[in-house]
Amino acid sequence: MEASFAGKRALVTGAGKGIGRATALALARCGAKVIAVTRTQADLNSLVEECASITPVCVDLTDWGATEQALQDVGPVDLLVNNAACANLQPFLEVTPDKFEQAFSVNVKAVVQVSQLVARGMKARGSGGSIVNVSSQASQRALREHAVYCATKAALDMLSKVMALELGPHQIRVNTVNPTVVMTDMGRLGWSDPEKAKSMKSRIPLGRFAEVEEVVNSILFLLSEKSSMINGVTLPVDGGFLAC
Ligand code: NAP
Repeated sequence: MEASFAGKRALVTGAGKGIGRATALALARCGAKVIAVTRTQADLNSLVEECASITPVCVDLTDWGATEQALQDVGPVDLLVNNAACANLQPFLEVTPDKFEQAFSVNVKAVVQVSQLVARGMKARGSGGSIVNVSSQASQRALREHAVYCATKAALDMLSKVMALELGPHQIRVNTVNPTVVMTDMGRLGWSDPEKAKSMKSRIPLGRFAEVEEVVNSILFLLSEKSSMINGVTLPVDGGFLAC
């Protein structure tokens, strides 16, 4: 998407791979000063090699104390993309407490923490801001073996609406994008099996999965002033899956 983020400072979580990495690079191309947060140092090294202006922060977002410490000196942030997540696929009857805790910790709790840190600064500066939480079509439809993932994304949708309600008076907008399958590492985990992929595509009116850039464009739109009156929405990027 054509948008200028010159003079803006953006923080993207899960920026090492997939959608988060592409979002960080796109924001940098559009003039933002980008802080890229993820837990694998090698991914940050290659990201900075690709775009030297990006500031890397290596932290496991499931660790509340380490995250607080890692983000304390990142400076003001105008644009936040809460993108980091994990998808541990388990049939419902085999859901384990460790996978449950890990998923809620990164997919929901870390969003609360990082958004608090960033939004407190936005509120104090009175400068407003935009937060985009990367949710999923799985927040609104049951998918086999996705019990915990679906539950985290449903929680994220509602968390985002309450954030929109409470932060709106400070001119901080909060929205989600809700993509269908994208063939990143995470997407390949659940949808590499041609039979499963075929059955999912048959439920998507456009008949295909989403491309990374299609999700990135939607994130950039919601971050930008072009969406200045949009607050509290869950935006499907799903070829019509959720409409049917
Ligand atoms: P991905 O390729 O697996 O990338 C996820 C990124 O998040 C990785 O860099 C990963 O780092 C990081 N991350 C995970 N846990 C973390 C933690 N505890 N602390 C810090 N960083 C962590 O996933 P993706 O497909 O780009 O997904 C991005 C977002 O889109 C997620 O919110 C996902 O739920 C959502 N989404 C994806 C799809 C899809 O089909 N791909 C569909 C709908 C929604 P490591 O690699 O080092 O773990």
